[in-house]
Amino acid sequence: MSFNNVIDQDRPKEILSRAIFQNRVAHAYLFKGPEGVGKEAMAFEFAKAIFCSAGNKPCGSCRHCTRLNHFTHPDFIFLFPMPKNVTDDDHRRILNSIMREPYFRLKPWAGPVIGIERIRELRRVCNLKPFEGKRIILIAEADKMTAEASNSLLKILEEPPPFTHIILTTANVNRLLKTIISRSQAIDFGLISDQKIQQALEDKGVENARAQLLARMCQGNYTRALEWLETNVEQRRDLAVELIRKCLRDQFEHIRFVKELLERNEKQELRDILRLLLVWFRDALVVSNEPHKGKEQVINIDKFDTLIKFVNTFKEIKYELAFSEIENSIEMLDGNIQINLLFIVLLLKLQKVFVFK
Ligand SMILES: [Zn+2]
Repeated sequence: MSFNNVIDQDRPKEILSRAIFQNRVAHAYLFKGPEGVGKEAMAFEFAKAIFCSAGNKPCGSCRHCTRLNHFTHPDFIFLFPMPKNVTDDDHRRILNSIMREPYFRLKPWAGPVIGIERIRELRRVCNLKPFEGKRIILIAEADKMTAEASNSLLKILEEPPPFTHIILTTANVNRLLKTIISRSQAIDFGLISDQKIQQALEDKGVENARAQLLARMCQGNYTRALEWLETNVEQRRDLAVELIRKCLRDQFEHIRFVKELLERNEKQELRDILRLLLVWFRDALVVSNEPHKGKEQVINIDKFDTLIKFVNTFKEIKYELAFSEIENSIEMLDGNIQINLLFIVLLLKLQKVFVFK
């Protein structure tokens, strides 16, 4: 069995290989774990392995595997959150992106859901005989199903149709119905190791030093590493450091800085900046605890000297306070709040983190 297209995740690979090998594939699986660690990538490979007609499954090149690779297999149904008015062209564009990169983020819109009409259609299809003997249904980010859709899916799970396997993926298992969870076999996915992410990036042709930096920064989330690869993550990190510098200035500076920050950055970028700010404080804590061994453990390895200078500037840094204020801000960013106020308040609160010599 080879799941070579999936990075790391040895335990899920082992369990799913055994299921294929012993011909005991369950009716329903729940792939759960953090975002960006390859739950969907694994689901695609597992689907191939279930259909594949070669000895070493999934071969990637038989009739079944080829059609699955192109999302044209008639017995593979793939649902993911989408707005209602999405066009066929949009839908195909997303599938093409996933075809090129199975770790693609499935979130091109704000607030997409999996609605009742799509599960209703699924139930209709489940009454028909599959074309090729079996059918696989993949519902990605299943926690985005509406309440109605969840209840409708539950009916399918309660009386599993013959020849059908259902795979659900979620990064928010608590948002699923308990009855859905209890009717599927859970497979736990963990964060991917830095080394495996670095290797995967280098295999894509990313230069060694940048691959190492991205692997450390993304903290086990390969999807995030890929997104940061496309953008200038170093520039966002520098903005995070600039934010610390500005917090020590007066309120006029705060207002000016936040205005500029919001003019030049979308919400997604602001979220990244806050995450990188968190990473910066985490590194500073490592450096202040172990100034000699710190270099192997910091994420911002290219800024090690700056980190040393940073921690030596202050008599004390209240790390716990910094972590909780930044985490709160990240959480609030997704809520109904004025973003400029959020940042101005954060700057004021960060001021209290530093005690001068
Ligand atoms: Zn095959």
